[in-house]
Amino acid sequence: MKHKPLSRKMGKKARQIKREMDELRPQLIERSGGVCEWCGNNPTWVYIPDREELEMHHIDHQRNHTNRENCIMLCPYCHDTKGHGIGGPEMDREILYQIVRERNNK
Ligand SMILES: [Zn+2]
Ligand SMILES: [Zn+2]
Repeated sequence: MKHKPLSRKMGKKARQIKREMDELRPQLIERSGGVCEWCGNNPTWVYIPDREELEMHHIDHQRNHTNRENCIMLCPYCHDTKGHGIGGPEMDREILYQIVRERNNK
């Protein structure tokens, strides 16, 4: 799926993306209060093996746009369904942007 294992041959660009995501993640986890920013569930309640943490989703699907405006923390279920339209309709991106805007302004 979208979370590929990190390759040893990860390029410079991929390393930079990972670094930016690693830097932003704690800020977004704090913003989320530890629960999915869409459904409010704790990610450990949504049992998908090896995916028990909130996952960072890029609303416009561009991994090089890693910032507080374009990223939302989702439980694995919402990440697949709402974020990527796997097994359910993809959420209207404008709605996700609105959630993020409101949370950023708090
Ligand atoms: Zn969720
Ligand atoms: Zn995603």
